[in-house]
Amino acid sequence: VFVDARTVTEADIVDSDVCIVGGGAAGIALAVEMIGTPVRVGLLESGGMQFDAQTQDLYAGGQDGLRYFPLDASRLRYFGGSTNHWGGMSRPFDAEDFQERGEVGDAWPISISDVEPYYARAGSVCGVAEDAWSVGYWNEGSRHATLPLRERFVTRVAQQVPRAARNFGARFERDLERAENVIVYLHANAVGIETDDDVRNVTLIRVATLEGQRFSVAGRHFVLAAGGIENPRLLLASTSRRPNGLGNDHDQVGRYFTEHPRFEAASIAPTGRFPVGFYTVHHARGVSIQGYVGLGDELKREEGLADVQLRLRPVYERSYAEARNSDAVESFQRLARLRSRGVDQISQDVVNILEDLSRWQDTMVAGAPLPIPHPATIEALLSSNGEERSALASMLFGDIGVFGWGRLTDSVPIEEVLVTARVTPVPNPESRITLSMERDALGAPRSHLHWRLSRIDKRSILRTLELFGAELGHAGLGRLGILINDDEDDWPDDTAGGYHHMGTTRMSADPRHGVVDAECRVHGIDNLYVAGSSIFADGGSGTPTLTLVALTLRLADHLSQRLERNA
Ligand SMILES: Cc1cc2nc3c(=O)[nH]c(=O)nc-3n(C[C@H](O)[C@H](O)[C@H](O)COP(=O)(O)OP(=O)(O)OC[C@H]3O[C@@H](n4cnc5c(N)ncnc54)[C@H](O)[C@@H]3O)c2cc1C
Repeated sequence: VFVDARTVTEADIVDSDVCIVGGGAAGIALAVEMIGTPVRVGLLESGGMQFDAQTQDLYAGGQDGLRYFPLDASRLRYFGGSTNHWGGMSRPFDAEDFQERGEVGDAWPISISDVEPYYARAGSVCGVAEDAWSVGYWNEGSRHATLPLRERFVTRVAQQVPRAARNFGARFERDLERAENVIVYLHANAVGIETDDDVRNVTLIRVATLEGQRFSVAGRHFVLAAGGIENPRLLLASTSRRPNGLGNDHDQVGRYFTEHPRFEAASIAPTGRFPVGFYTVHHARGVSIQGYVGLGDELKREEGLADVQLRLRPVYERSYAEARNSDAVESFQRLARLRSRGVDQISQDVVNILEDLSRWQDTMVAGAPLPIPHPATIEALLSSNGEERSALASMLFGDIGVFGWGRLTDSVPIEEVLVTARVTPVPNPESRITLSMERDALGAPRSHLHWRLSRIDKRSILRTLELFGAELGHAGLGRLGILINDDEDDWPDDTAGGYHHMGTTRMSADPRHGVVDAECRVHGIDNLYVAGSSIFADGGSGTPTLTLVALTLRLADHLSQRLERNA
């Protein structure tokens, strides 16, 4: 059920067993998981169903340190949260990501075996097509081969959720609307968390709307799922019993902010044919996937390096690149659009395409096969009608798609391969979210980001590139030139994050080193939990959303069991 918080009074608010703050990936996953159970769920979502500038402005904040996206431009504040524009790239963490890695990574108080049972379900919540991550499986299903590197290197595969399935809000709106045990309050901003006198239990969440309503929501358990910057902000701003904020007795809330910084770091000059196709976003087994290269665990450990992921982007020969931008491509796209509308108007388009293709031939790479449909197919198509035409149209697309286009892209000479490096930074306590002196429209202190990276992060990138370059030389594939300087304090101008906000309420066994325990519960507070990538002890080698959803489903199990025990 959806309720507009601007139209309710405090008396209308139903107490819940689980009160969730935030309706993004984590909050929606948790609420959906509880549909149909005896648990009464209340979800407080700041925004409505659509983007709204005034609500979004509540996300604005200050920053210093490494340049970062403006805080209100790196996330979205309405139902669905940042899944309204995430890229859908997904890959689970590896076992190694949860382990102690000396100087380059802290251990989580849980291991892969605690999360693994939830990945398959998390995948279907996220819209991931298959619960399959081995490179062998995807390599077999792809028409592109992986690079022939020795075992010291690994290729990992990420799946990309199709655009239509990415938005959690759109996908689960109907289920939540019909759910009898879930109430979603829209336009309801959590602005503070209140506890009992000895700060052992949360008693209520204070809520404000931009229209001026103020009310409180009570519950038995509370889950902060407002994103990696807002979760610490809410804890830090809840000062009525603790001047430094809730869960912050050891000055840990907001620390260890981490991201997946990346930039263009190297260029490979291929010696001959360079099999880069597997590393571009392409379709295998009907799924959009992308491979990327990294050092194997053993080599990383031997060298004491943070995890670095290398993405490869081919730059084709100029004549090919120009051809790709030609009218012929537009014609293909037109034909593809027509195909979905039926084939009746196809004749004129086929003629246009042939004209475009013959022009394209002039600018094509000499000797490269053209994706021209077989002339007999076109002739038959033009003189046919009705059902027959429909069958012939499929043949035409077969000719273009399978025999032409596919062969063409594999045989076009590559001028260079650009290498983007993405590092999983070592946890850094100085990289943090604090509260700013400025206040938002609801009177709450704004967030301030101090983004820092460590020398070892840069060193890890440089060393990974050196090792990768040597490996390419060994395999006779090409020569790698590093494009960045070796000053470990200097980060390239194009350094950017992946919009992954992690680590600010990190999980730890010891309250002196983190904010939540292995059950995602804030240390010392019995009924307050956090969901989302703010609980990550470090960024991991995969993408955050699949893992944060898996951990949220694990939290759902924990809460259901706890409520059942105490029923
Ligand atoms: C451009 C972009 C591309 C991305 N691409 C990828 C990708 O390819 N792969 C990947 O894994 N991840 C990607 N991400 C990250 C991904 O979107 C996040 O990991 C994920 O959305 C985080 O889920 P969350 O529920 O913790 O936070 P969010 O999805 O941000 O949801 C937080 C929710 O809480 C609400 N809220 C905030 N404050 C309050 C408050 N005080 N009271 C009530 N409600 C509140 C917000 O309105 C929002 O709905 C991308 C992000 C962006 C921005």
